[in-house]
Amino acid sequence: MARIPASINVDKVLEVAKLLGSMDLRRSDMFDTRFFPPRDADVESTYNYFLAMVAIDHRAHIGDYKFQRSINGEIFTGSDLLWRLGMEMFSRDPSFFSPRRLSKLDPVIVRDWLVGDYGPVWDYGVRAYLLRDVGIKVARNYGTTLRLFSVGGVEELLDRLSDMVAYEDPVKKKAYLLIKFLVSRGLLKVKLNEIKLPIDNHLTRIAYRLGIVRPEDWIIESIRHGIHVNSDLDVRLRMIVRDAWDAVVRVGKLDPIALDDFLWRLGRTVCITDKPNCEQCPLRKVCNAHSRGVFINEHTHYLTYYY
Ligand code: SF4
Repeated sequence: MARIPASINVDKVLEVAKLLGSMDLRRSDMFDTRFFPPRDADVESTYNYFLAMVAIDHRAHIGDYKFQRSINGEIFTGSDLLWRLGMEMFSRDPSFFSPRRLSKLDPVIVRDWLVGDYGPVWDYGVRAYLLRDVGIKVARNYGTTLRLFSVGGVEELLDRLSDMVAYEDPVKKKAYLLIKFLVSRGLLKVKLNEIKLPIDNHLTRIAYRLGIVRPEDWIIESIRHGIHVNSDLDVRLRMIVRDAWDAVVRVGKLDPIALDDFLWRLGRTVCITDKPNCEQCPLRKVCNAHSRGVFINEHTHYLTYYY
């Protein structure tokens, strides 16, 4: 891999790890039936569901277009709406997510399924393609998801998943997200120290602001000016962000799943783009951006299905 134009600040990693280690980080409820199959759902159907839904769990907003909708009086946005619509489909027809059905999926079905207030999700054709590819590869190589997930460890599963277009990201955001869901549901037994965090825009933004990762000045300038980075640079930057969070997990002896749940919620509600709500943030005592009063966002890379 080419040089990474950013570095890890070890002192800041120690500081952040110490603070996080003193906090009571809890895993989210992975049995919330608004988003996930019920506890007593059939195991194969549950595997099918998570493999398919994570495959299409990437940015749902684009520009001013917000993927949002009210369902039964409750407003769902972005990824939450995606998973809510996933469960509506699962409740109606769990076999929709079977590899055989996915392998023949018509993009028109996805267009009519993933709908927000302003119409279908912006890249429904891409999502249909990713689902079809998942269906074809699982059906051809394993027959069922039960066989796909019958593995000896994380590395073997990562290798199997990387064959699918949806899971080809070198930083493995979707792969580690899937592993997190399956481990949390008791559907995959792996060692916690084999799990890395699924690096998306929220975890990247928080890493830059805290200062555990320090991008070079020209990257910071490109962030300030909203200049898009290419896919290769995006991968290199997220890779060092992943390494930095991995160091925080190890130093702080943290549960990577609980940490990811915490950071994801923080990124969506508190450490938001442009104007973070630092007064509500439990990390403000160790945050470089807060102490300096200068807040950068994550680097700009919208056109991707990696995260
Ligand atoms: S203190 Fe502010 S900038 Fe720093 S992590 Fe918290 S919300 Fe983000």
